Amino acid sequence: MDWKVPLSDVKFDRAEIDAVTSVLESGWLTMGAVTAEFEKEFAAYSGAKHALAVTNATVALHMACLALGLGPGDEVILPSLTFVATANAVRYTGAEVVFADITSPQDLTISPASIERRLSPRTRAVMVMHYAGYPCEMSSILDWAQAHHLPVIEDAAHASGSFLNERHLGTLGKVGCFSFFSNKNLSTGEGGMIVTGDDALAEQFRLLRSHGMTSLTWDRHQGHAWSYDVVTTGYNYRIDEIRSALGRVQLRKLEANNARRREITTLYRSLLAEDCPALSLPFAHHPGVSAAHILPVLLPPGADRLRFMEGMKARGIQTSIHYPPIHAFSAFKGKVRGAEDLPVTDDVAAREVTLPLYPAMTDEQVRQVAAAVRPALEESAL
Ligand SMILES: *Cc1c(COP(=O)(O)O)cnc(C)c1O
Repeated sequence: MDWKVPLSDVKFDRAEIDAVTSVLESGWLTMGAVTAEFEKEFAAYSGAKHALAVTNATVALHMACLALGLGPGDEVILPSLTFVATANAVRYTGAEVVFADITSPQDLTISPASIERRLSPRTRAVMVMHYAGYPCEMSSILDWAQAHHLPVIEDAAHASGSFLNERHLGTLGKVGCFSFFSNKNLSTGEGGMIVTGDDALAEQFRLLRSHGMTSLTWDRHQGHAWSYDVVTTGYNYRIDEIRSALGRVQLRKLEANNARRREITTLYRSLLAEDCPALSLPFAHHPGVSAAHILPVLLPPGADRLRFMEGMKARGIQTSIHYPPIHAFSAFKGKVRGAEDLPVTDDVAAREVTLPLYPAMTDEQVRQVAAAVRPALEESAL
């Protein structure tokens, strides 16, 4: 399909190409100096004490669950309105997911009141997801979790470059997990970062990421070690130097790219408020500085969503849904506590459509999308 405006788009230039080429010329492809620099720079940017680059955010979430000791018989409270990886990561450990509702049609992040209602003697952790890079209600969630001695894991896959009170999202809880998948704000194709302020957890992550081994090929190459011990059942969750090189360049571009995403979001808000007052745009009054990862809109109740999306497609505009709620998937349906009591999630998930948003999008393209919305909306109400 040749879209006039695609949902998202990546743009690499000479800087990324040169960075990748120089890794290839160096002949060292995995876990070396480039990854160490990437981690140092990401830690400095985010203010995280420890940052470890990994294969993707899904394995970062898995390591967070493992290092916090989750296993069979344990429960983790998380939203259903997120990508399925958030829940799968919990299930990898044998622990069970429990779904909490989102706050409101204005705030699509996990509801502190709903989290509280899901507490049981088996609750071991809370996993939040900063939808589109807009912060969850972190101060109430953290206060409540602390009172119950529960760690908070942040799925910060959308939140590279999101701040709340000058603090980077993903650094507010015990562990933060970032995604550098192709369509994320900082993109390396596949890739991710796990951050924590806890020294012991960081050491666990280092071991889990690399087979539970106490020294790495890189250490031995540098003459720092001759052999190694294996102290836990580890994984191969490493990133490679090629992706780290891409990541370093992308990190330098992140602030400018996110600023452009916010500009586009603002333009959408003003155009759609004027043209389509029936459409609602969540996060109008969010606190903090958002990475503006995606642009979710809510159709009016009763509108035919598929028809709307077909109407946009007929006008050359790609749209998407974030997200089909996890509790409705076959692998979860009827198997998860909390799923029967998610009224806001059910309402929002049926009405949400994601409009195109990416830094290289022109104002003219934003106008094209906005202009297509009204006729597509009218068709969807027929
Ligand atoms: C993209 C995404 C993930 C998974 O990230 P990967 O790096 O692709 O593993 C997890 N959670 C959310 C909310 C995401 O958007």
